[in-house]
Amino acid sequence: MSGSAPARKHAVIVGGGLGGLAVALRLQTSGWQTTVCEAGPTFGGKMNRWSKDGFHFDTGPSLITMPWVFRDTFAAAGGKLEEHVELKSLDPIAEYRFDDGTRFEYTSVLPDWLATLQRVAPSDQDGFFRFLELGAKLFAVSEATFFRRSPFERPAAGEWRTMKNMPLLQGWGNYQKTVERLFKSPHLRQLYGRYPTYVGSSPWRSPATLAVIPYIEFAFGGYAVTGGLYRIVEGLVALCRERGVELRNNAEVHRILRHNGAASGVELASGEKIAAGVVVMNGDCAATPELLGEPKPAPAHRSMSGFVQLYGLRKPLTGIHQHTVCFSANYQREFAQIFDEHRFPDDPTVYVNAPEPGDTLFIMANTPATDQTWDDARIAQARGRVFDRLRRAGFPDFRDDVVVSDVWTPTRIATQYRMPGGAIYGTDSHGWRNAFLRPRNENPRVPGLYHVGGSTHPGGGTPTVLMSADITARLIRQRHS
Ligand SMILES: Cc1cc2nc3c(=O)[nH]c(=O)nc-3n(C[C@H](O)[C@H](O)[C@H](O)COP(=O)(O)OP(=O)(O)OC[C@H]3O[C@@H](n4cnc5c(N)ncnc54)[C@H](O)[C@@H]3O)c2cc1C
Repeated sequence: MSGSAPARKHAVIVGGGLGGLAVALRLQTSGWQTTVCEAGPTFGGKMNRWSKDGFHFDTGPSLITMPWVFRDTFAAAGGKLEEHVELKSLDPIAEYRFDDGTRFEYTSVLPDWLATLQRVAPSDQDGFFRFLELGAKLFAVSEATFFRRSPFERPAAGEWRTMKNMPLLQGWGNYQKTVERLFKSPHLRQLYGRYPTYVGSSPWRSPATLAVIPYIEFAFGGYAVTGGLYRIVEGLVALCRERGVELRNNAEVHRILRHNGAASGVELASGEKIAAGVVVMNGDCAATPELLGEPKPAPAHRSMSGFVQLYGLRKPLTGIHQHTVCFSANYQREFAQIFDEHRFPDDPTVYVNAPEPGDTLFIMANTPATDQTWDDARIAQARGRVFDRLRRAGFPDFRDDVVVSDVWTPTRIATQYRMPGGAIYGTDSHGWRNAFLRPRNENPRVPGLYHVGGSTHPGGGTPTVLMSADITARLIRQRHS
């Protein structure tokens, strides 16, 4: 593929998701000219919103952690998160409902959680503290290394010292085995087993290093945003505009252009060419070869997708928490059906997000990423299973009160965001290789081509996507100064 000679200090970003916006903002603020080409009509990618008849829904993330990472992104461009967004610390983080009828609130307020532990699993208090200690050690190491650098970058002198604190023995074990060693209560095993799903993975296949996720949530809290998480995207877009980032929607990139082997710009579906010395891919890394005009790679190690239903109700549901998780009867079987049998589980764990006043519901179940189309029959079957679980978990039947509704399947996620198979988090985090050696931020084969977002390092989920923007922007500045 040939293109015109590279322009200097101009970066074009393929995709205006969270990662694309954040990397553009960071580069633009440090003296680059940036152009974001987003295929869709709106920015934000999977951090999306749907509005109808006065009802507003977040269609993607509903809970964020590590709020300082969001603050840092705005601050790096001389902005202030709080001028755009009001963060709400969640207490409790969620209510958990189990198949045997047990229910309790999970809170990150230590005395309250210890009181709950005393009631539901008194003999697991020690295990809880050991689990937290493991997560704390992993967090200290990650903060200094993994969250800050791309794999294969040479660590700074001090980092070697930090890495010596890596809890090697426990950290490289299996996630669910670690949970089962530390907790006897089936409820806590299921509760803590859920965290690898934050990166679209199975607890039975993930490394114990993912214990950093429940630690981060417990130690620093879970957050929602008043008015919906999409406010974060609106804030980023406003700041990008103020700083002079060129934001182009309905601008699908068909080709990444090369000149003497190095990235030299992009060609849009319209045929328009944009020259740039640096190209940053914010779409899934798995789609990069195609944009380079190379054969499509075989799908491998995809993280989970989601089956999401949105309902606007005539009258609010009362007596439910903002976040409720209704667990399946057999969690291991659920993951076996997703990852071994590649099908929607017979009995899915169902997550419900009902922001105040409770008249909009976001209901999600995990499902395999797939290239097969979800047709109406499949949607109806999955919907039936989700409602069975809600009923068994004691949820009121609200179907007669539905005024507006929408449904997202892996097919729709794949098409709308150009995510192969609808995998929400790129590759899965099964085994340490997949978890820690994700596609690099700097493309190893094409000089001037970089990646940003959930499918590259350090991984999926909103805070890590913003970390990837920081890492990628720094690499670009270093390489092209
Ligand atoms: C249902 C759901 C629930 C989630 N829940 C949570 C949660 O609670 N907490 C959390 O932290 N995370 C959650 N996530 C994950 C989170 O949304 C993502 O990790 C994050 O938003 C991904 O950002 P990104 O920048 O990597 O990519 P994306 O959001 O995927 O953006 C990539 C953009 O690139 C565009 N693009 C791709 N190819 C091209 C091309 N060729 N030309 C032009 N544009 C292109 C796409 O249209 C898209 O807009 C959830 C996601 C979903 C879908």
